[in-house]
Amino acid sequence: MKIDFHIHTFPDRIAPKAVGRLASISGITPFTDGTTADTLKKMEKNGIDVSVCLNIATRPGQEQTINDTAATLFDESRGKLVGFGSVHPNSPGAASELTRCKALGLKGIKLHPDYQEFIVDEKRLWPLYEALSELDLFVTFHSGWDCYSPAKIHCPPENAARVAKAFPHLRMCFAHFGGLRMWDDVDNYLAGLDNVFFDTAMAATMGLDPALARRIVSRHNSDNILLGSDCPWEDPSISAAWVESLGLSDSLTEKILGTNALRLLDLSSLPNSPVSRDSQQQKQ
Ligand SMILES: [Zn+2]
Repeated sequence: MKIDFHIHTFPDRIAPKAVGRLASISGITPFTDGTTADTLKKMEKNGIDVSVCLNIATRPGQEQTINDTAATLFDESRGKLVGFGSVHPNSPGAASELTRCKALGLKGIKLHPDYQEFIVDEKRLWPLYEALSELDLFVTFHSGWDCYSPAKIHCPPENAARVAKAFPHLRMCFAHFGGLRMWDDVDNYLAGLDNVFFDTAMAATMGLDPALARRIVSRHNSDNILLGSDCPWEDPSISAAWVESLGLSDSLTEKILGTNALRLLDLSSLPNSPVSRDSQQQKQ
């Protein structure tokens, strides 16, 4: 089973514009057109069973629409896509929107410190982290360098570690193996923290040294490392092949490719899930 914990899809009406804009900022040729239909087709081709679609509220006031859409994704994709929500830290109702996310059945949210203009350990974010922790919602952060804000890093590993230590019960994923292009600092500050997760998004494309990746993995909780691609910005089959090429044990590779995410998402408890469908078929 392969679960990609970091992809992006967009509603059909905005997909061409959103993907086109991001492609011109990043200079990367997108692997999908950003629609759920094309994403599902390419997941099937590449043997990805489930993908987590990360949404970002780039302006205050977008949250309700984003979160309502994210909540319908699982059923509409017949259990192939899991939508994460988002809130904008500048929205006055951000904390109460998190309560609504939980009620909608969302498993987690994404925050993007570059797009949402905050530094990860700014104290004004504390009430939001408190609410996430109390609601037991998972949070993924864009971490490290970003092409949108190349001169200013908003979520460096050292600051990320301060948040992780201040909120030990909040499960947080620092995407891009803890911090894009800041992997020595990931090793120094984040490896070994128990509530911290890493996804592998863009590690292959951006050249994370396999020896350093193995060192970080060896020092970190093996349950807390997740396959991610950042699709459409990296082809998920490249992300998965990169994990397989690290030379980790078979059981650890299997955990990273899917079983860690499966446990985290608790997919078997969701109606329509491929896991519950499989077990139903076995019973028949
Ligand atoms: Zn991403």
